[in-house]
Amino acid sequence: MDLSTLERLPLWIGGRAALAHTTRYGEVTNPATGEVLRHVPLGDAHDVAAAVAAAAAALAAWRSAPALRRARILMRFRDLMETHKKDLARLLSQEHGKTEIDAEGSITRGIEVVEFATGIPHLLKGEFSDNAGTGVDSFSLRQAVGVCAGITPFNFPAMVPMWMFPVAIACGNTFILKPSERVPTLSLRMAELLHEAGLPEGVFNVVPGDKEAVDAILAHPEIKAVSFVGSTPVARYIYETGTRHGKRVQALGGAKNHAVVMPDADLAFAAEALIGAAYGSAGERCMAVSVAVAVGAAADPLCAGLAERARRVRVGPGDVAESDMGPVITCAARDRIVGLIDRGVVEGATLVVDGRKPQVAGHETGFFVGPTLFDHVHADMTIYREEIFGPVLVIVRVDSLESAIALINANPYANGAALFTRSGYAARRFQQDTEVGMLGINVPIPVPMAFYSFGGWRNSLFGDLHVHGMDGVRFYTRAKAVTARWPDDGSAAPGFTMPTLG
Ligand code: NAD
Repeated sequence: MDLSTLERLPLWIGGRAALAHTTRYGEVTNPATGEVLRHVPLGDAHDVAAAVAAAAAALAAWRSAPALRRARILMRFRDLMETHKKDLARLLSQEHGKTEIDAEGSITRGIEVVEFATGIPHLLKGEFSDNAGTGVDSFSLRQAVGVCAGITPFNFPAMVPMWMFPVAIACGNTFILKPSERVPTLSLRMAELLHEAGLPEGVFNVVPGDKEAVDAILAHPEIKAVSFVGSTPVARYIYETGTRHGKRVQALGGAKNHAVVMPDADLAFAAEALIGAAYGSAGERCMAVSVAVAVGAAADPLCAGLAERARRVRVGPGDVAESDMGPVITCAARDRIVGLIDRGVVEGATLVVDGRKPQVAGHETGFFVGPTLFDHVHADMTIYREEIFGPVLVIVRVDSLESAIALINANPYANGAALFTRSGYAARRFQQDTEVGMLGINVPIPVPMAFYSFGGWRNSLFGDLHVHGMDGVRFYTRAKAVTARWPDDGSAAPGFTMPTLG
């Protein structure tokens, strides 16, 4: 069905679009115009229970299907995502605001996780020890956890769900996705494509909603594992509540990503890289660089290079090819970001480029904020301490690499960090001493490829395992170790002492 023409979106349960039980609906807006595009059901406990029932019914057959069969369905899904990528990117851009080309790139990064997950027959192989004891063999298996759920943020409507469900269902689990209520349509579209790829009904379900649906997920005894990506306060709540209900939880939170620029770096290259990293997707990326840490003599030329480039960024709607950067997600987000810029000025930072009143002709009702640059920012200022999640880059000046690393390590967030340098020594110090989950050396946004795992430290992740890569496989499976012997002469009668197998 053409979801984009519907006034009210459905749920996706048991392999088909389903009417919601809830009577609460939210508005999905086009951030470039402020217009309401469609309405989204805000699922209630009945809706979650219906999705869990479908997922539970599908589980036994799905987890006992050969992994290769599951992989082949994902291969077809991958091809369908490629075929429809442009349409999906258009839809994504319309609901989120980011440029279509950026939206397409994010879908590609999601597809790469599907490609990783198609290797599942290999990834699930266990270990085997022949004659671990005399006549005794030992081996290990990884088995599906059961019904899993994913709760995702607004900023990556396709990629973040694809960090989760391809790996989860490849491992033999069934899945319920609770996408962000602000950008729900992509999830429903992916459900249709999974269905078209041959996924059995009930293996993948979508219940859009807000806190009510989330709480129903966290409390439902049949859901065994929850993956979450979103802001830190909600991540902490999900982790604490989910684990209290006996679930396995990975909860990725917010970020304040630093990029350290050494005086020996190619400063033009660094400035160019930081502009895209700070302002791409209007700064609404969990790996966006929001703090440039200028070391010593790098500061003045870096600030000048950033200011000159920030003023050239073209702000406009995501469906116009000339736009470098679109609007932010909601009117409330714009007001919050502008309020934080005001606060930076009041607290004494130097506002070098002011994006509070961007002019976007014909889009006066859109939620635009222009690129904003602050210099002389200190660690006690609100614009340093808070995650702004908008197109605001702040420069903190320090005198050494050691001070830069100390600053990063003292920050409560620890998702990503980057270093720009020509010194191998500095790069090695940085990668050894920086206490952050993902590091870039002359790479501003070090998002790991699908075959590595993605995740931060400290307040950027609650739980033990990162998403996708082998951590994803570990999260969505339970380990089992089998010790076996096959005596045929009765010599292996059970004894009363601790067996040592020797
Ligand atoms: P959010 O925390 O407001 O929402 C995330 C999800 O939680 C949504 O599905 C939402 O419906 C639900 N939710 C919101 N409030 C809730 C509550 N009180 N109780 C239960 N559920 C609730 O985040 P957002 O605004 O959609 O996304 C932006 C945030 O996500 C930023 O902080 C960003 O850094 C973070 N993020 C982190 C990563 C990462 O990998 N660490 C990736 C993307 C986004």
